[in-house]
Amino acid sequence: MAAGEVDIDVVVVGAGLAGLTTADALHAAGRSVAVVEARPSIGGRIKTLVDGDAWFDLGATWHWSNQPEMRSLAADLGLATFPQYRDGLAVAEDAAGTPPRTVDLPPPAPAELRFAGGTQALCHRLAARLPEGALTLGTDVTGVTAGAGGLTVSLAGAGTGREAELTCRFAVVAVPPRLASAGITFTPALPTELVRVMEGTPTWMATAVKCIAVYESAFWREAGLSGLAFSQVGPLFEVHDASTAGGSTPALWGFLSPAHEVRDLDVETRTGMVFAQLGRLFGPPAADPDRYYERDWSVDPYTNDEVVWLDDPVPYGHPLFAQPQLGGRLLWAGTETDSAGAGHMEGAVRSGRRAAAQVIAAG
Ligand SMILES: Cc1cc2nc3c(=O)[nH]c(=O)nc-3n(C[C@H](O)[C@H](O)[C@H](O)COP(=O)(O)OP(=O)(O)OC[C@H]3O[C@@H](n4cnc5c(N)ncnc54)[C@H](O)[C@@H]3O)c2cc1C
Repeated sequence: MAAGEVDIDVVVVGAGLAGLTTADALHAAGRSVAVVEARPSIGGRIKTLVDGDAWFDLGATWHWSNQPEMRSLAADLGLATFPQYRDGLAVAEDAAGTPPRTVDLPPPAPAELRFAGGTQALCHRLAARLPEGALTLGTDVTGVTAGAGGLTVSLAGAGTGREAELTCRFAVVAVPPRLASAGITFTPALPTELVRVMEGTPTWMATAVKCIAVYESAFWREAGLSGLAFSQVGPLFEVHDASTAGGSTPALWGFLSPAHEVRDLDVETRTGMVFAQLGRLFGPPAADPDRYYERDWSVDPYTNDEVVWLDDPVPYGHPLFAQPQLGGRLLWAGTETDSAGAGHMEGAVRSGRRAAAQVIAAG
């Protein structure tokens, strides 16, 4: 490949929030972009389940009033937000066999904000601003190889219709670092220390199981409860109100305990335990939801790998992620690579804007 003969200016690997933010910024700056996503849909760890008129976030839910990048992105995309419902008392469950007690908590500061219609709208609106054909779904990136005039990105997947390779001037890898290290072959090989950092950086929330129970009425609100609960008993260790904007569809969501003995139970037994716990926390109607949904991120190979807990994790936002590789043509994005907002969507947006700025500065 000679300089000037590449297919596209920039290949972005991964259509999560970080990859889409990168692509959006590069497109706005006049660069041609191709975004390659392994899953059949965009959003990565942001996933909104649409259920008739209702919607529930199976992945990321909140951003916070003190997060400048998320606030500016929401405004730029014209997305309406509303505060997490926190009116009334919280419930705490301290020990098995002990009745839960109510707790009067101050209002959260900074405020937790939700997107009306669900968080995935962020990703859909960003993707809608890309030129037609810029997005390729259902396609794994398996390799990035440096050549004289640019990079060759190897693709594997059913959904493409594209050639098995794309050539580009720059590539931005916006997938969790552990997955990038395991699933993408970089040629020449990346520095040993960077590989250690990638493998040692845990993927945020990769083991989360989110449970959502939908009801006909918000009986907890009527009883003066906010829907917030903390439990030392489980199987849910925290619960929040998940009702859609204005309370139109009442719902609660909770995170399942990370304890293996809970996760290893068969789904029917575990679900029964979840319902029983909701009944203990919020009263008998909570044990009998209308509908119930669960999303186990730990079994999703595009979020989690086989290692569930790292003994000695590398802190998020390692400085090596800010250093380009492969002769300055390979850059990193993804929430785990960000030094200030890592883990949160704020970190994903910050990292995408940083990577795009690095590409633009490089010419
Ligand atoms: C249950 C849960 C709750 C959360 N709650 C919150 C919250 O309330 N607030 C908050 O701020 N954050 C929350 N988060 C975290 C938030 O979702 C992430 O910070 C953010 O979505 C990360 O975006 P990303 O683009 O960096 O990574 P990802 O969303 O993981 O995107 C990476 C993309 O790369 C793709 N990919 C992987 N490998 C390849 C490959 N080889 N080739 C091509 N594509 C590939 C993946 O399919 C994925 O689409 C939550 C996460 C989970 C799981």
